[in-house]
Amino acid sequence: MKKIILTGDRPTGRLHVGHYVGSLRERVRLQDSGEFDDIYIMIADAQALTDNAEHPEKVRQNIMQVALDYLAVGLDPEKSVLFIQSTVPELTELTFYYMNLVTVSRVQRNPTVKAEIKQRGFEASIPMGFFCYPVSQAADITAFHATTVPAGEDQEPMIEQCREIVRKFNAVYGKTLTEPEIVLPQNQASMRLPGLDGKEKMSKSLGNCIYLSDEPDDIKKKVMSMYTDPNHLRVQDPGQVAGNPVFTYLDAFSEPGDFEAFWPDYANLDEVKAHYQKGGLGDVKVKRFLNSVLQERLRPIRERRKAWEQRLPDVRDILKVNCEKAEQVAAKTLDEVRHAMRIDYF
Ligand code: ATP
Ligand code: MG
Repeated sequence: MKKIILTGDRPTGRLHVGHYVGSLRERVRLQDSGEFDDIYIMIADAQALTDNAEHPEKVRQNIMQVALDYLAVGLDPEKSVLFIQSTVPELTELTFYYMNLVTVSRVQRNPTVKAEIKQRGFEASIPMGFFCYPVSQAADITAFHATTVPAGEDQEPMIEQCREIVRKFNAVYGKTLTEPEIVLPQNQASMRLPGLDGKEKMSKSLGNCIYLSDEPDDIKKKVMSMYTDPNHLRVQDPGQVAGNPVFTYLDAFSEPGDFEAFWPDYANLDEVKAHYQKGGLGDVKVKRFLNSVLQERLRPIRERRKAWEQRLPDVRDILKVNCEKAEQVAAKTLDEVRHAMRIDYF
């Protein structure tokens, strides 16, 4: 069986470091591993419209921003098909058929949907399109017969829902669709990076982000203003490491060489944590170190992004060719689906 990846992002803003550790870094690793036959990376504009129906211009502009972020982190359009969801209308048709295989109460129980409804204040009135987006994600994944979905932990309930749809479809209409598996980031801290406020996950819609395109000064300001342990008032007080976003970011981003380069007082992160927990290590010092680490990780990404920003017409051409490739594959799956469902009349 072929090994195929599908994953993607909503063009609701530039991509942030949560995306980087939660999925982009893993995607690039999988892309370069050569283990996969095909890789599809989707800019989910139709999904973004489900909670941004009144802001189509925002979605449109962010398609280019997300494409630039992709190229900046090292996704390679020669190896990965980078395409825009709405240019593949077959996905919408698949969604419509799959909706018959899912109940309203099942979607209501999906914990990610629940959290997002709350986050967006949709409790009183949920747009139908938004409510159905887990079904549309199942269409995106199955249209490419994806076996593997690299994503953050927040996507687990979505993949489970997709697997149920596949099993139901295959049971009712005969084996047609492929059941996917999620691949979570290898690094535990990366699964759901908290926002600068430490409250929720870092998310474009919440404005608590460090963006991949942020300038060095912005990164520094954001790091120095981060939420830490609220009970760690004086330097000599013992501090909490668990749930302290500064340490979660260090878990996700720091590499062994960083200590020698930026903080030779310590040999590794465990020593820093032990000192912080014992008391006597101030937040400012830890934040300065985190700033150095992030500056080091983000500089090459920002520089590659700037180079691509000088070549926007080329980026558009790359997307156009990739969208056409994606549509050919989805059209073939739609034929198979219609055939299985006995609605292939002519
Ligand atoms: P929005 O607020 O518009 O939903 P978002 O910031 O949540 O945007 P998505 O486009 O929904 O981003 O997520 C795309 C991918 O990035 C998913 O695989 C998701 O798991 C991952 N991801 C998003 N935010 C984080 C985070 N804070 N930590 C780890 N992974 C994340
Ligand atoms: Mg999201």
